[in-house]
Amino acid sequence: MIRVVAPVFSCAKYTEQNLCFRENGGALERAWIHIRGIVQGVGFRPFIHRMVKEYGLTGTIKNTSSGVELELEGERDTLSRFVEELPGRAPKLAVIERIEASYTKELKGFADFQILGSKTEALRDTLISPDICICDDCLRELKNPADRRWRYPFINCTNCGPRFTIIRDVPYDRAKTSMSAFPMCPDCEREYHDIENRRYHAQPDCCPVCGPEVFYLDAAGRRVEGDAIELARAALKAGQIVAVKGLGGIHLACRVDDPEIAKTLRRRKQRDEKPFALMCRDAACAEKICTVSAEEREILENFRRPIVLLKKKSPGLSHISENGYVGVMLPYTPLHVLLFGDDIDMLVMTSANLSDTPMMTDNEEALHGLHGVADGFLLHNRDIQTRCDDSLCWVLDGKEYFARRSRGYVPFPVRAGRELGPILACGAEQKASFCLSRGSYVFPSQHIGDLKNLETFEAYTGQIAHFERLFDIRQQALVCDMHPDYLSTEYAVERAEKEGIPLIRVQHHHAHMAACMADNFVSEKVIGLVWDGTGLGTDGTSWGAECLIGDFHGFARFGSIRPIPLIGGDLATKETARVAFALLRDAGLDTGGIENAALYESMLREGLNCPLSSGMGRLFDGAAAILGVKTLCSYEGQGAVLLEAAATADDGVFPFTLDGSPLRFDWREMIRELVSCRDRGEETGRLAARFMNTLIEMAVQQCCAAREASGLNTVALSGGSFQNMYIMERLPGRLEKAGFRVLRHRRVSCNDEGLSLGQLMIAQAAIEDPA
Ligand SMILES: [Zn+2]
Ligand SMILES: [Zn+2]
Repeated sequence: MIRVVAPVFSCAKYTEQNLCFRENGGALERAWIHIRGIVQGVGFRPFIHRMVKEYGLTGTIKNTSSGVELELEGERDTLSRFVEELPGRAPKLAVIERIEASYTKELKGFADFQILGSKTEALRDTLISPDICICDDCLRELKNPADRRWRYPFINCTNCGPRFTIIRDVPYDRAKTSMSAFPMCPDCEREYHDIENRRYHAQPDCCPVCGPEVFYLDAAGRRVEGDAIELARAALKAGQIVAVKGLGGIHLACRVDDPEIAKTLRRRKQRDEKPFALMCRDAACAEKICTVSAEEREILENFRRPIVLLKKKSPGLSHISENGYVGVMLPYTPLHVLLFGDDIDMLVMTSANLSDTPMMTDNEEALHGLHGVADGFLLHNRDIQTRCDDSLCWVLDGKEYFARRSRGYVPFPVRAGRELGPILACGAEQKASFCLSRGSYVFPSQHIGDLKNLETFEAYTGQIAHFERLFDIRQQALVCDMHPDYLSTEYAVERAEKEGIPLIRVQHHHAHMAACMADNFVSEKVIGLVWDGTGLGTDGTSWGAECLIGDFHGFARFGSIRPIPLIGGDLATKETARVAFALLRDAGLDTGGIENAALYESMLREGLNCPLSSGMGRLFDGAAAILGVKTLCSYEGQGAVLLEAAATADDGVFPFTLDGSPLRFDWREMIRELVSCRDRGEETGRLAARFMNTLIEMAVQQCCAAREASGLNTVALSGGSFQNMYIMERLPGRLEKAGFRVLRHRRVSCNDEGLSLGQLMIAQAAIEDPA
């Protein structure tokens, strides 16, 4: 019951409500609430609507350039509780940076709750959601025989389902997605328009009556009659290899327990040794083969559903992964859930592609390209508009530590912590990515792959155009790597010329350091420890493991490592005995035991195709070969990965020296000691550990010297070599013990994929302050 007591103020058009006190005496007030962060395009307004109704409040909501603004009226206690409880109940994708609230007794007398603002205003700032795994509500409906979407593999709602991978254009509505081919039935339409419904404005909403359908085809591509999912399940159980169409691409699935099946898959896919990812029914199934900490479990079960690299419980499963980790993800689409049923615990789930081409997305392409690879095809008629590989990460300090930031994360922006001009950063080459900036946001692309592959390069240019359109960005500057031969550089040069906009070229390691700074919202000068494969240096030579001092505006090369000649150039990254030979020879040791020693000797002596490299990866390759861990690598970084896997407990450190300018790590003494310990019969695992301990000790000493020279106390760790968990679990702690503040990657990958963020920040600095 409401009782009118007295007019509080007289200027506004008021209803009975704004003149009143509640019967129980609680005074009504008006709250002005500003919520900053990523709260647009994430189902935030329907969420607020429901919450406002639940709390019995009235008022308005509108989008602002930095978030949303609410004006609400109700009892003061209720309003305060609303503000307090809002963050904990917000939609999964919302990122609330700050809530400001102020209260007044002056009421406007809202009769109901209204969403204000023009459509164009809302459009400009709208973000596009990544794909989200099936939610608990949909899961319940999927398993409920009484529900009209029982066992329907495309069930979704406002809180879950495909987004980025089905969007063709903006504004984001059904007509501009792959769902345009499926007009809604009256039942779905009703849900779509009902703000009280969980499917209010859920663009991909559909049901068995109106939505896409799944089908099963045999090895010859002939459609097989029957329940497609049951057919696929039977084929998998029988040991066949089945292509399964997912959200961002097509996978190849097969049983995990039989090494022969995995071997067949490797042979057909031409993938000799690279680890396969697994999909497990749930975290408990993953625990049968891996250790899963509470933190890892949280990331596994997270709605983004990345592949999490988990430690194997025992050395088994070598047919899946030859190293100490295995990549595991949980089912993320209703189709996956149905495929696993109650009785399949785990499946190999590897991208369907052939020898380093992009993951397949198209039905016809799969039927053609996987002929002879897959024994069956579980496909459907909803097109994948945008390819998006599974994300891949470790869990460090309870958060994702990315090797690949892709599905489930992209195209959500990362905050820059400052305003940026519209810039396109073109990335590097092997783990290509790009990013675009708008306001205080940076939009990193999904994983794209190695640009030297023509199809991948086409995907790269296509995605740049797609992002520009989706986020309405007209860049005013371009930034690329200094390396003139990178295809990303060629693309940038051509575009800058055509469009007459400035092009900024950034040194590779500088970009890495800047990416790590930006990742941590740091702009002041730092010591950058960048351990990477190779990147072109400012002196025209190839750089690798560098210690830099600088910021977004510039840098100096403070330290490096003693260069290693790569006998036969790129061939040495595969045939790593070549690197072992170079290390042993330089250390003055006997090289007689190495095959082709005479050939290598003559190549070195004549300087025949023996470019110098100071890459940390090469040192790992060489050590792995010397220890007999691996002498022939079939994929990038294999030597390092296997050396890490081989390490057992050992606290020792090999002797080494640091000298010269730049201050170089001279590894010759380390190699001499390593060989002498090996020859004395010491255990390989202990020597592998001691090798990495030496690198950690060297890093600490190099940083201490850099601190003495610069007075700086912050170290940023970046580059592909920091994907080594042995080092990542030890180096930051050792640096902190030495008094440093340590920055490591948190939101983008430490490898070349994350580097475009650094390019962008350096370009922004160059534009603001042209030297
Ligand atoms: Zn749902
Ligand atoms: Zn329907």
